[in-house]
Amino acid sequence: MKNVDVISYVTVNGKEHIATINLLKGVTLYGEKLVPRNGNEYRTWDPFRSKLAAAFIKGLNFEFTNVGNVLYLGASTGTTVSHMSDIVGYSGRIFAVESSTRVARELISNVSSKRTNVIPIIEDARKPRSYFAIYDKMDLVYCDIAQPDQTSIAIENCKIYLKERKPMLLVIKTRSIDVTMSPKSVISQEIRKLESNSFEIKQNIDLEPFDKDHAMITAIFHPK
Ligand code: SAM
Repeated sequence: MKNVDVISYVTVNGKEHIATINLLKGVTLYGEKLVPRNGNEYRTWDPFRSKLAAAFIKGLNFEFTNVGNVLYLGASTGTTVSHMSDIVGYSGRIFAVESSTRVARELISNVSSKRTNVIPIIEDARKPRSYFAIYDKMDLVYCDIAQPDQTSIAIENCKIYLKERKPMLLVIKTRSIDVTMSPKSVISQEIRKLESNSFEIKQNIDLEPFDKDHAMITAIFHPK
């Protein structure tokens, strides 16, 4: 199925919502609405709870076509992971890294135990060599860990796991990095870090009004 079908817009009570085709018919995760259309069941995707949904609404130009393996850093309870699971379908796999065991318990019971394309990895993303569940290279690295050193963590993970010329999507929470600098300066600083580590920047998306002082950077990895 083509990307344009898997991510779509549906109308509920006269209001338009971004949505993904539900891989688990009839099953919801966080109170989202299920909308039948053309023989599929769409699951509304809340941009206030998922920065990936917010990024698409704000103009993210990214096709999930040909994305098989995804390394997802900062899976939390799995809200965005579940929609990514809808998008990549059963031909894809999401290796979902989360360091908090409390949060990971929910990820496992509500998401990965039901969605067989989600593989939970309860590890610190600062120690990427300890992900023993991974045996393959990735088509995409997605990073949303809200840590001061998140860009360096994302870069190290890409160096080990991301295929050449493949994309990374990095969520930058500027206040987690430096509260004394302006959000714009923090983003420029993080972009320079990426550029000096063989990443070609494609997009820099401000996630307002869904998330204040957050940006999503998309970049392609060109290792030397
Ligand atoms: N991406 C999630 C979503 O859209 O549903 C939200 C992620 S939340 C902003 C950040 C998550 O990163 C938290 O669950 C936190 O426990 C996790 N995290 C923080 N530091 C981490 C680390 N070093 N390794 C792995 N996970 C980490």
